[in-house]
Formats: sequence, structure tokens, C-alpha cells
Amino acid sequence: MPKLPPAGSRQSAVAALLAGACALAGCSAGDGGGDRGYGLGDRGPDAGGSAVGEPASDGSSAVGQDGGSEADGAGGADERPLVLTTFTVLADMVRNVGGEHVRVESVTDVGAEIHGYEPTPEDLTRGQGADLVLDNGLGLEAWFDQFMADVDAERVVLSEGVDPIPIAGREDTTNPHAWMSPAAGQVYVENIVDALRDLDPAHAEDYAANGRAYAAELEEVRQGLVAALGTLPEEHRVLVTCEGAFSYLARDAGLEEAYLWPVNAERQSTPRQVAAVIDQVREDDVPAVFCESTVNADAQLQVAAETGARYGGTLYVDSLSRPDGPVPTYLDLLRHDAVTIVAGLTGEELP
Ligand SMILES: [Zn+2]
Repeated sequence: MPKLPPAGSRQSAVAALLAGACALAGCSAGDGGGDRGYGLGDRGPDAGGSAVGEPASDGSSAVGQDGGSEADGAGGADERPLVLTTFTVLADMVRNVGGEHVRVESVTDVGAEIHGYEPTPEDLTRGQGADLVLDNGLGLEAWFDQFMADVDAERVVLSEGVDPIPIAGREDTTNPHAWMSPAAGQVYVENIVDALRDLDPAHAEDYAANGRAYAAELEEVRQGLVAALGTLPEEHRVLVTCEGAFSYLARDAGLEEAYLWPVNAERQSTPRQVAAVIDQVREDDVPAVFCESTVNADAQLQVAAETGARYGGTLYVDSLSRPDGPVPTYLDLLRHDAVTIVAGLTGEELP
């Protein structure tokens, strides 16, 4: 995690956020100790059963009394249920709730474009081998209904119960990025607990306990985020990004949003959109603009160049990073974005 120089009271909230990040992510233990990635290496049973079910944060260490026993048996196949998610963020959430009891894989790999993804024949084969399939819903995965047409596994939509936010200017279209709110993320966790209980009632108590511990961590992130972003001066409370993926985060933190395109599936910043964002950045004297890890930042760099705003850095939304990257877990993602946004908008330089 980036560290910020101490300077004033605003910094204490950021420092608390950073300190919490270390506590939650287990900086001293576990990092690098296992493959927490979502790439090809995870996909087969040969990748190592212990890695697949390994808890991604301290919060899930409550599981694991019988950790690995099923996976390690005498060279046999891993018979734990296979839970397939549509993207890496959801896979990490499921790992935190499922702990050692389930295998978790993501259809899309780290860095993939998840809105308009085109499944491969191999993806479909994995879908057909899954015991449970979890998607975000809210129109995120444009490819998923077609994918499920050939898959028999139970399907659960994890955003069910989240209070949806429409895309600005298109009141009939829902913004799908609800997981970017740690408050909404707690609804996802409830849905995961219910789905795993139905899949595997024998471990229902573990799923419930893991879910409670994980939801408590998300709540802690939410409070840290609100506190850190709550210190932003009123005139700087505009979050300018490439994709309009921050509506739910902005709702939590009381920020206004501006963006170059509403969803990545149609990422083409027209000259008109760029001009509109440039106007807003100038009008509100926005100090920094941002772009996301899975898209090209050129248009946003142009906004920065033409307005004099700083380019505040990369935000993570639609994908985690590799295990050795900045956001190997969902909690890391939320904290990284909060720290980057606060640092950009308050003028504190990231090292
Ligand atoms: Zn997106």
C-alpha cells in the first residue's frame, strides 16, 4: 500500500485507513504465502488444492478446522464443490466466506474486460463442471445469459437486495458496479452465505460465521472510507474517472461523479464527452482526475493535460490485480481506491 506523509488532521483519517489495510490484508503474514491469483494457474486441480481454498484475509481464518483435509487426500481429485464466479472480485468474496470448504474460480482472468467478455469453449467446460455459478447481475455481464444457456449449475445473483442506482441520463439503465460500495458489498456477502448454505448445508455454520466476520471487515472499510473522504473540501468533492463505475462508492462517501463513458462495454470517449468533462474539471477546479486499471487512460490524460488537473492514478474496479500487485483482494481494492482518491483530491502526493 502507498504511504502518505503525515500532515494535519486529514492525514490521521488516511493513516487510519492505511493501518487498517495492513491489519485486514495481513501484511505480516500470508502475503506471498499462497497463490491468491485468479489466473490460469488456479484453474485446474493440479494448481494445488491448498492454494485454491486459502483464505484471502485474516477475517476468514476462522474457518479451516478441517482445512485442506479433503483436498489433500492421497493424491485424489479435489471433491469440494466448485463455485464459479464471473470475475475476480466476486471470487475473492466467495473465498472469504467459503474458506476451505469450496473451490472457487473466476471465469474472467485478472485484467479482463468483464462487461463484454466473450467466453471461450474452455470457459464453458468449466461452467459445466461447476456446482454453483455466481454473477453480479444489474446488467454487468452482458455475456452471461448466453453462457448459462449451456450450464446446468444453480445460479445466484449476488447483487440481489442492493438498492440500485441508475446510470445518469439513462434512468432505465442500472449502474452495475454495486460492489464498489462496501455497504452494498455486505449485501453480496449475505447472498454468498445463503448460496453456500444451500449448496453445502453441512458447513452452514462456518459459512455464517465467516460471513459475519467478513461483513464486519467491510463495515470497518466503509467507516474508514467515509471518514477519509469526508475530510475533502466541498469544492473538491468531484470524482472524475474513465468509467462511470463509482456511483455506489460516491453515494457512500457523498461525492459527485463525472466520467468519460458510462460503462466499459461501450468505452469510446467521444470528443463531446471529453469536452464536457474538461468543462466540469475547469468549472469546479477539480485538482485530480483518475482512470481504471482495465482501460486505456489516454483520454483522461488528455483531460489532465488540457485542464492542468493532475492525473491522480489508477483505480481498480472491474478486476483485482495479481497476488503480487496492489489489490490482490476485494478489501485491498476498496482501500487502494480510497487512498488514491483522497491523496489525489487533497493534493497529497503518492510516492
Ligand atoms: Zn465496469
